[in-house]
Amino acid sequence: MIDLRSDTVTRPSAGMLAAMTSAPVGDDVYGEDPTITALEERVAGLLGHEAALFVVTGSLANILGVRALVPPGSEVLCEARAHIARAELGAHATVSGVTTRTWSTPDGRIDLGQIRELIAPDLGPYFVQTAAVSVENTHNFGGGWIQHSYDALADLLDEARLPLHLDGARLWNASVATGVPLSAYGSRAAAVSVCLSKGLGAPVGSVVAGSAELIREARVWRKRLGAGWRQAGVLAAAGLYAIDHNVERLAEDHANARRIAEILADAAPGSVKPDQVETNIVVADLAATGHTVAEVVAGAEQAGVLVGGVGATQLRVVTHLDASADDCRQAAETIARLLR
Ligand SMILES: *Cc1c(COP(=O)(O)O)cnc(C)c1O
Repeated sequence: MIDLRSDTVTRPSAGMLAAMTSAPVGDDVYGEDPTITALEERVAGLLGHEAALFVVTGSLANILGVRALVPPGSEVLCEARAHIARAELGAHATVSGVTTRTWSTPDGRIDLGQIRELIAPDLGPYFVQTAAVSVENTHNFGGGWIQHSYDALADLLDEARLPLHLDGARLWNASVATGVPLSAYGSRAAAVSVCLSKGLGAPVGSVVAGSAELIREARVWRKRLGAGWRQAGVLAAAGLYAIDHNVERLAEDHANARRIAEILADAAPGSVKPDQVETNIVVADLAATGHTVAEVVAGAEQAGVLVGGVGATQLRVVTHLDASADDCRQAAETIARLLR
């Protein structure tokens, strides 16, 4: 099977497993796990922040980051298909009392005009107060889109005196694709999440970064939510290994995704624009092909290729370090046959 449903399906490599088994560990609730501390310092530095906290999932990193910026009863603005709004199962509302309003664009991009209109920092005691804006870079359900207006949004929020939350689950991909250092993205946001378990290939883990004070508070909330952990340095070691070995190679995933998009665009013209595939996600719109997503997903599975759907007519293909250039080409040709 060639599994291109997500970049979360990777398995730890032999080198990563060796790093995990030899990691020095201690009780992290006492702050005594040297491998976790090393990972947190490393990621904080990469993202241009004072401090960071290693957590089990990207969702938890977002929950801790957003709640640090948005008091209960206030709102965070985000794009309509943002992970925090759609794929975290209402956590920000149920756990933190945070409400959401959204802007909407076809590929999840920043729309400064819409955001400017939504911002309501203080309209009197009748309206929810905007406390932060959250943006995803790259945008997952938008097709791995890089936020090219990221700095312009950060400028706008500086002026409005509102903090920016950056859901950087795939910020590594954005940085490799653009050559913009992670710190140039990270330092513009008050809280940043990054995932180690997506394209970087670690089995578990995300990191939230921010000021020392924000992270101190996040550490308390992590424990309060039952997510303190002990000798999790075995997992942090996988993250450190991933940062050392699997960042630059993301360029291969991006090239493979571009190639897949070209093959699909040949078979079903207009379904995808290859020059807009900037990172490791291909979203193809099957509306005009006469095929349903379910039909193509099932047909591909029978032919040994796993892909997924996002939305009624959209097929999503995600490249990663366990899928070679050959695997990706073969998978694309299989899907192309089904679309023709
Ligand atoms: C995967 C992802 C997350 C976090 O997901 P978890 O499954 O909770 O680790 C957050 N944001 C985006 C954009 C993602 O793609």
